[in-house]
Amino acid sequence: MRFGLVAHRIHRQDADGALARWARGSEAQVRALGLGLHAVGGTYDALARLGLLQHGVPTVRLPTGMQGGVMRLASCIAGGLAPEHALDGVIYFVDPVDPSSLYPETLALKRQCVIHGKPFVSTARGAQEWMAVECVHAGVGDAAVLSQALDGQTVALIAHDALKQRMVEFAAKHFELLSRFASRVGTGTTGSLLNELAWSRGWPAGQPWVTRYQSGPMGGDAQIAELVLDRRCHKTIFFEDPHVARQHEADIQLLERAVCTATEHTSCFNSPAMAERWAAALAPAGS
Ligand code: PGA
Repeated sequence: MRFGLVAHRIHRQDADGALARWARGSEAQVRALGLGLHAVGGTYDALARLGLLQHGVPTVRLPTGMQGGVMRLASCIAGGLAPEHALDGVIYFVDPVDPSSLYPETLALKRQCVIHGKPFVSTARGAQEWMAVECVHAGVGDAAVLSQALDGQTVALIAHDALKQRMVEFAAKHFELLSRFASRVGTGTTGSLLNELAWSRGWPAGQPWVTRYQSGPMGGDAQIAELVLDRRCHKTIFFEDPHVARQHEADIQLLERAVCTATEHTSCFNSPAMAERWAAALAPAGS
């Protein structure tokens, strides 16, 4: 398994930054997985300078962002130019006020991950969580760690129109798991569909399973972003439609940037494949 790796400057410059804490905290898991890393120039150099994940973790140095490193990652997520260049996902420690977080290649990288159903992991909490997910799938991890992480947490459930049915199917399949969160929030239309599902599954009538905010285009994404900024929403499961122009693109990015602002507290799954992989890892823990 091979992942792309990028960390914006604020996350890679210090020995106690997000990159370093992930590299130390997840080192045993990275080694157990035999995970290979394709790190963009500055991130590769930070690993070397800080003495992180050296020896035995196959790490390739890509060009810097300015020299096209992130552009190459986007190609490799799509399959690259040769099978040995294909990547299985990306960990990108995003600093939302770093201008490159808005560069087309950064947006394209995320979009290619969504399209190809590969994980795009954008937060410190998410990076740590995702190593645990992969370890459970590889038979070298303990799902109880992931299960305990649900305690007292709130999950946001949002789906664009073409993916609303997928969201309902996901929620039906993992109803018990999602019901274990302390609470659920959602955008207006997605929330209505999910409440109907919950009531049909015996959830107490008149009690919403999902607390609904405005519809996405009417500001629901922004309202959920505020919950994220307040540390009152800890996971965003967002089934994005990458194949249409979205009139509320700014709101969608606002929410994703809020998630990265709360990087230690929140993680985001932005495709059905990513959400299913997480849920499947939790299944042995009795979800
Ligand atoms: P909706 O919003 O659930 O109200 O449709 C989702 C979105 O389109 O962002």
